[in-house]
Amino acid sequence: MACQSSDELKVLVEEARTCAKSGKVADYIPALGKANPDDLSIAIYYPDGRCVSAGDVEKKFTLQSVSKVISLALVLMDRGPDYVFEHVGMEPTGEPFNSIGKLETTAPSKPLNPMINSGALVVTHMIKGDTVEERLQRLLSFIQEMASHTKIGYNEEIARSEFKTAHLNRALCYFLKQHNILDEDVEQLIDLYTKQCAIEMNCLDLARIGMVFAMDGRDPLSGKQIMPVDVARICKTFMVTCGMYNESGEFAIKIGIPAKSGVSGGIMGAVPGRFGIGIFGPALGEKGNSVAGMRLLELLSKNYQLSMF
Ligand code: GLU
Repeated sequence: MACQSSDELKVLVEEARTCAKSGKVADYIPALGKANPDDLSIAIYYPDGRCVSAGDVEKKFTLQSVSKVISLALVLMDRGPDYVFEHVGMEPTGEPFNSIGKLETTAPSKPLNPMINSGALVVTHMIKGDTVEERLQRLLSFIQEMASHTKIGYNEEIARSEFKTAHLNRALCYFLKQHNILDEDVEQLIDLYTKQCAIEMNCLDLARIGMVFAMDGRDPLSGKQIMPVDVARICKTFMVTCGMYNESGEFAIKIGIPAKSGVSGGIMGAVPGRFGIGIFGPALGEKGNSVAGMRLLELLSKNYQLSMF
């Protein structure tokens, strides 16, 4: 079913777009710096296959941290929650996504949650497979199934650009290796992690993945339970408690839906039992969330009473 462009959404997009001026495109991964800060697009995907959108929804972007919630789902299926939570915690940090500080002061020394970089690196480390290619392919197949789009791949230029500059992530890996939380070659893990973060799609794909999370891991269109209900529940809970970096508390109060953002400006939302949302707006606020994307979600949440609280 084709996605319908919606005049109602278009009005909200134009209002939210005015906020983009106060944000800045991420450039610590040099290739991300090429994004146009004024871009803003949204797609909403319903369980009956209807889709509504506004903005340039065909435009592709990389998942960056949005990928963390999907790799978590895969690893929970691969290893089970008990094993996963022996290696990564369940608590929000209140610190920036790439902070190393809490690792040193938390005992036992394991990452506080899977949505910060240290925790996400541990999660990526747990993806099963013999080679980087095989592990990436398993993650891609899982994503392709949720998005119902077999062509989803990763952006090599962005992966390479991050691989060259991921010194802080390497430092996190070495710290975790010292504390026996990782036992993988750091360059190999950074290779897989940067490719995972560079997985590329458009808002429609992202909204469809959000819809699968919203529907408790079931794809109502194929009838397949893609992930167990419990895995979807754990992922959505993390999206609420730490999906929007150290702005998750404010996001829960103002918007109130499970969501995960990334430094590319992507946001995936999952409105429980109702629909999935995919947003792309690359101008970021101070905490690393899309400023116009957040404003758009705030308008949507107020207009359509989406808050789950
Ligand atoms: N690849 C990015 C990093 O690890 C993801 C960060 C993000 O989107 O928050 O720095």
